[in-house]
Amino acid sequence: MSTIPFDTTQVFIGGQWRAGDNAETLPLLNPSDGSLLASIARGTASDIDAAVSAAEAAQSGAWGGLAAAERGRVLLKMSTLVLEQADELARLEALDVGKPVKQGRADAVALARYLEFYGGAADKVHGETIPFANGYTAFTLREPHGVTAHIVPWNYPMQIIGRSVGAALAMGNACVLKPAEEACLTALAFARIAQAAGLPAGALNVVPGLGEEAGAALSSHTGVRHVSFTGSVQVGALIQAAAARNAVPVTLELGGKSPQVVFADADLDGALPFLVNAGIQNAGQTCSAASRILVERPVFDAVVTRMAERYRALRVGPALDDLDVGPVISARQREIVEGYLALVKDSGLQVAAQASLAPNVPRGGFYVRPTLVADVAPDHRMAQEEIFGPVQVVIPFDGEAEALAIANGTPYGLVAGVWTRDGGRQLRMARRLQCGQVFINNYGAGGGIELPFGGVKHSGHGREKGFEALYGFSSLKTVAIKHD
Ligand code: NAD
Repeated sequence: MSTIPFDTTQVFIGGQWRAGDNAETLPLLNPSDGSLLASIARGTASDIDAAVSAAEAAQSGAWGGLAAAERGRVLLKMSTLVLEQADELARLEALDVGKPVKQGRADAVALARYLEFYGGAADKVHGETIPFANGYTAFTLREPHGVTAHIVPWNYPMQIIGRSVGAALAMGNACVLKPAEEACLTALAFARIAQAAGLPAGALNVVPGLGEEAGAALSSHTGVRHVSFTGSVQVGALIQAAAARNAVPVTLELGGKSPQVVFADADLDGALPFLVNAGIQNAGQTCSAASRILVERPVFDAVVTRMAERYRALRVGPALDDLDVGPVISARQREIVEGYLALVKDSGLQVAAQASLAPNVPRGGFYVRPTLVADVAPDHRMAQEEIFGPVQVVIPFDGEAEALAIANGTPYGLVAGVWTRDGGRQLRMARRLQCGQVFINNYGAGGGIELPFGGVKHSGHGREKGFEALYGFSSLKTVAIKHD
């Protein structure tokens, strides 16, 4: 526990660090060896109440009263501090989530970039004048919602905090953040950075705790005016129902079963690294993981062979060893993934390749072997359900129409990739794929800070990232003045 340089057991409310109201804590495990990493506060409904009150005070006071450019400067200062502390944040994220340190570092850099993007944008969001009846001037104002709730999962805490809290603060909202009970060290470190950067007390409050306690209290709180949720479809539905009772808007970023579609005319050398990396990054625990690879029949065998080679070369081990793949987040998540691997065996599917674990992996760690499964029918459970582990299925297809039918044929619609040199096909596919983002001849371009992101169907609704998020975290007011 001594490796964490701050008290992890506290909540952060109104600029103060203190124990949660019931003084209870929850264990935080290190996925790389299963050991106790730290204890965190088990926040309750009364902590959430205090956090919402502190946020209301900041929003109607010190934070909400700042000029937009001043708000932006605070975010830019936070960005600078995040970059200065990127190595330490990467280490904390690696210990907490089990991701290789280089991925933790990429996440810290992304957090800094979100703060830079939204800090720079804070004074560039404005309304419009509207040509209305003679004798009137009409215009619109973009105003903050007030108190915004941010319920985030464990897989990319820094990136998800950056894109949602960053945009909400830029618009002048005050935030209550409920990190996941499985991983919340960088959320606590982020609050310290906000404090050091001079963010007024109450503009950001962090209450760790259980989803069904602190999370449920936050999503149903009558003082909250917008809820941003990233997580599972099941919990997303609960959050939407809770917010509906208060007539509050929600942004839901949920799961996915995202395809990359490889046509026979594709640049296979260019595609190969994207095909595998987008499946095994963060041990496959990425909402936009490309967990389905659709390949046109003439190049099917070649693609499977080359992906299999890459799988066999993957190095899997403890996060701090900084290999290609770390453990999954928990024993429960490992059980879920192993259940799917048992299904592969029971269904007689063909395992094209499996990576080996490094010889020294600690026995208590939550490791699964990255697995590539070839020639899977599109309606098989392996090709329909989100696994959230380092497992990809490869599905053959004949022609554009079948590719589209398979790509669109799941309950999800988050992201899609298309690999083809045919310009007409690029445009047709981009228009006809049912999802929130399409990448042509790449996947996940540049981390996507500037690119609006979100889903359709069971992948959710609302958009975060890019400029679009600033509209989501604000409310439009129309003013009509009669002057003649
Ligand atoms: P989860 O839904 O169990 O938990 C997410 C968050 O919700 C946690 O903070 C949790 O404490 C909280 N929560 C749980 N129950 C709650 C309740 N009843 N009321 C309020 N809050 C509650 O999800 P998870 O297991 O942490 O994450 C995995 C899922 O998240 C996957 O399905 C994945 O695809 C999805 N995800 C989506 C995105 C995206 O941007 N679309 C990003 C990351 C993860």
